[in-house]
Amino acid sequence: MKTARTKTPRRPPHKKPSNSDQKDPVGVYCRVRPLFPPDQECCIEVINETTLRLHPPDGFKVNRNGEYKETQYSFKQVFGTQVTQKDLFDVVAKPLVEDIIHGKNGLLFTYGVTGSGKTHTMTGSPGDGGLLPRCLDMIFNSISNFQAKRYVFKTDDRNGMDIQSNVDALLERQKRDAPTQISRTPLNRQRIEPEFADMINIQDHCKVEEVDEDSVYSVFVSYIEIYNNYIYDLLEETPIDPIKPKPPQSKNLREDQNHNMYIAGCTEVEVKSTEEAFDVFWKGQKKRRIANTQLNRESSRSHSVFMIKLAQAPLDADGDNVLQEKEQITVSQLSLVDLAGSERTNRTKAEGNRLREAGNINQSLMTLRTCIEILRENQIYGTNKMVPYRDSKLTHLFKNYFDGEGKVRMIVCVNPKADDHEESLQVMRFAEMTQEVEVARPVDKPICGLTPGRRYRNQAFKEELSRRLEERGGPVVGEPEEQSVMDVLIQSFPPIPSCELLDLNDEHTLPRLIEVLEKRRRIRQMMTEEFNKNVSSFRAILQDANGAVSAKENFVQGKMTEKDRLITSQKSELERLEKKIKTLEYKIDILEKTTTIYEDEKRALQNDLENQNQKLQRQLSDKRRMEVRLQGMASENALKWEKECERRVAAKQLEMQNKLWVKDEKLKQLKAIVTETKGEKPQRPSRERDREPKVPIRSISPSPVTVCDTFYLFCMMVGTGVGTCDVLLHVHGHMV
Ligand code: ADP
Ligand code: MG
Repeated sequence: MKTARTKTPRRPPHKKPSNSDQKDPVGVYCRVRPLFPPDQECCIEVINETTLRLHPPDGFKVNRNGEYKETQYSFKQVFGTQVTQKDLFDVVAKPLVEDIIHGKNGLLFTYGVTGSGKTHTMTGSPGDGGLLPRCLDMIFNSISNFQAKRYVFKTDDRNGMDIQSNVDALLERQKRDAPTQISRTPLNRQRIEPEFADMINIQDHCKVEEVDEDSVYSVFVSYIEIYNNYIYDLLEETPIDPIKPKPPQSKNLREDQNHNMYIAGCTEVEVKSTEEAFDVFWKGQKKRRIANTQLNRESSRSHSVFMIKLAQAPLDADGDNVLQEKEQITVSQLSLVDLAGSERTNRTKAEGNRLREAGNINQSLMTLRTCIEILRENQIYGTNKMVPYRDSKLTHLFKNYFDGEGKVRMIVCVNPKADDHEESLQVMRFAEMTQEVEVARPVDKPICGLTPGRRYRNQAFKEELSRRLEERGGPVVGEPEEQSVMDVLIQSFPPIPSCELLDLNDEHTLPRLIEVLEKRRRIRQMMTEEFNKNVSSFRAILQDANGAVSAKENFVQGKMTEKDRLITSQKSELERLEKKIKTLEYKIDILEKTTTIYEDEKRALQNDLENQNQKLQRQLSDKRRMEVRLQGMASENALKWEKECERRVAAKQLEMQNKLWVKDEKLKQLKAIVTETKGEKPQRPSRERDREPKVPIRSISPSPVTVCDTFYLFCMMVGTGVGTCDVLLHVHGHMV
């Protein structure tokens, strides 16, 4: 990899001595959001930079003892309603970004009730980017010129990072990005979604000054949501079935070999710019919104965690290629957490499933509170109570931070409105307690150490050497210093006077010369004696030192053998423990798998149950509908039959009347016949004659009337009560 950078002497990041025994309190900051609408009652007052006061709303002002109760809370810093996102970022998040660039982890979370401004603080609002886009921007501003090519770093899915050569990375780029060329072209600010374009339009250009320029960097992001104590990957690309959307699959937590927690199988996307990273975040955000709507979840009850992972590895001695040594890679992570609303469940008026789920979510916040409480207790009273990190996914995931894996900072958001007063009190109490917890200061990791063969190793070595020599009080004797000692010695000799004899009678020159020479001889002699004395004393010192050294050597030898033995025994103990760990890990693995299976089964059974319930409901409503329909039909039928009966009765009556009339006629005819056959025509009363039909009798019934007919007629007449006595008599007479 040819990097066009100009090489500056390697400047190793500031390294402090290991400081694992030093502790820092959790940094707790408070942000008060503005009131909306602004003319309502305000229950919070910022007193100064670190303190605020809560006073109860009107009608609430009296406590049990009949006193007006105001409370004050102090934090590392309190930000009033006027604070800008940039000011907040500079104070709270900037140090965490500096840490991540220097290979240290960080955790930042927002805490507060729903509507208090957690999301506004973390993500931001349109036109007013929050901490998340600002962190991304600062990271990319800092490493912009030193980014590795895509796929040089590869996550190993076990919380670690692998490295591959530029050629392999190039081949992978060609293989993987070819079909998705469009999506891989770097996003520029004009092309990104307008919905969030103005949130990442950050003009601060702030960056970390001390970036190790002899390393290359890569940023990976992941985004998860914890809902109802299940972890969901918001970046996982699963095909969406719009007709029958599948419920999302939850992820499990694992522990890597360094006992750091990670989410197994969680998507980590390598990003090369703020725009690309925020685009990935935004997609996850959309997915979250859709899932919440489809599954009828209450979004304020879920925790969202955006993780920024920075991988860095040193370049080789020529500054051309990344060193292909996994051990040289440093990975640091910044986790940005937007916690669920901390209010109690009854405030949200959730019911049924949602209430149960919300209860679980509260449970994870409760666990967070319990963990903080126990940590604090352990620290204050020197106890060693177990911190129940494992009781919720949220605390389990961030357990390492509380164990000293990085800085922990919390922003408590509060809304000064009267309705929130009671909840705000709870929030304040928890926040104040949190800042009493001390977290071990992260150990400075040797970033990209002074690798043998690196170009600037000698330089650094020289710097270190001269520093140490200075500490010891001056340079060691070297060639130039030897020269100067000789000079001093020569200078201490008296100069030889002129020995030119110009006059035979000169009696001064020679004696002066002799005197000087004599003096010089004496000095030399003294010096030789001094030198010999020095030599012998130095020899004695040397011999003493030799003796001491050999004694020391013997002592060290003895110690070493002892230590060796100890190491060997510890090694075997370590091996045994490692084996035990492996077995336990294996068991955990199996248990996790079993849990997943049971969870799946439970989910399937729940689905079944729901389906059955739905079916039952459907059947019940069908039955009810059928009943109503049958009742309708029955009453309709009854009505119909009633009408039919009436109709038939009427018809029958008519028929009977007709029949009666016919019989009547027949009787009349019969009577006439009977009268005729007797030869005596009895005089009919004029009334009967008048009733006679005008039709001739024979034409009505030409057939002779039989005895049976007559009898039948008789019966009919008796049955119907119609007829006259005289007719009956005549008939009777005929029959006889
Ligand atoms: P939370 O995430 O705590 O439920 P939000 O961040 O969604 O609350 O805030 C609710 C509303 O209040 C949003 O419309 C947001 O824009 C607004 N808001 C919150 N804090 C501030 C603030 N400091 N300044 C301006 N508006 C804010
Ligand atoms: Mg929110």
